[in-house]
Amino acid sequence: MKCSIIQKPRQLSLAEREIPQPGRNEIQIKVMASGICGTDLHIFNGEYLGSYPVIPGHEFSGVVTAVGDETQRFKVGERVAVEPNIACDNCSNCLNNRQNFCDNWQAVGVTLPGGMEQYVVAPEKAAFDIGELPFEQAAFMEPLSCAVHGIERARIGLADRVAILGAGPVGNLLLQLARSQGAAQVTVLENNPGRAELARQMGADVVVNRLEDLQQAYYDVVIEATGVIPLMNRSIDFARKGGTILLFGVPPSGRNLELDAFKIFQSELRLLSSYTSVRNSHQAIHLLQSGQVKVEALISHRLPLEELEKGLEMIEKHDPQVKKVIIVPNH
Ligand SMILES: [Zn+2]
Ligand SMILES: [Zn+2]
Repeated sequence: MKCSIIQKPRQLSLAEREIPQPGRNEIQIKVMASGICGTDLHIFNGEYLGSYPVIPGHEFSGVVTAVGDETQRFKVGERVAVEPNIACDNCSNCLNNRQNFCDNWQAVGVTLPGGMEQYVVAPEKAAFDIGELPFEQAAFMEPLSCAVHGIERARIGLADRVAILGAGPVGNLLLQLARSQGAAQVTVLENNPGRAELARQMGADVVVNRLEDLQQAYYDVVIEATGVIPLMNRSIDFARKGGTILLFGVPPSGRNLELDAFKIFQSELRLLSSYTSVRNSHQAIHLLQSGQVKVEALISHRLPLEELEKGLEMIEKHDPQVKKVIIVPNH
């Protein structure tokens, strides 16, 4: 079968390898849709966790094609999506329901072979039944579960005013969740015209393209969804006194923030971050199945496995036409 391997930072190649066979507690999945994420770009650029070589892809869905002897929930032919973070369930963090901080953390597509190949194996406990949900939509289970975790942490209240910095695919998921939490007004900052238009379609009340157009000390909740350091530095300026800032976007590793310490002190700001998810996949699937979160309009391109590098470059260049890029390994 074909797979796409990042040999080392900035070096990607297409290769052939044996189809992996499932271990006792694993299932084998024929990958039907595999989303490219900003995190993949960080991995490609050598700015994230994990080691090389790695087969990326942590947002994917497919069909079960083989099951290990000790698996229980799945049969060949069933449709699944994978929660990529694999927790050991036996360290002090896991035993305290903090699986996202597992001491023995592994992740499909980060430390283990991911969905940018034709067949992948994953532990049965990481797989979720997607029913009739289209594969492309089910590939959003992972980013949506991260957005659900972030929104739960931010505790948006009924009638809150929310600002979201960045309307990439994840910003648009956060936007829809903020709405469903009862926000009275959602303002989105986005200077890419294609993404700004998308945010309007997805329910933003106000879309601005310059930081200066956001109101100072005004919003109940500010969600930073770009991971761009200068924007993260400014994110505290827009929260009201006693308001919340959620740092959601993934910044490059090894960089520092510069925040107005006195402002944080004087305004009793709640400054939060959000890291991956904690068993939010069921919620994500239900939100997709019910249509409460819509993702079809977030997809702009479908590419074969051979064009993964092109897809990464398209995302890196911020082309206004580029939204979510889905790789179809079994094209
Ligand atoms: Zn991702
Ligand atoms: Zn653990």
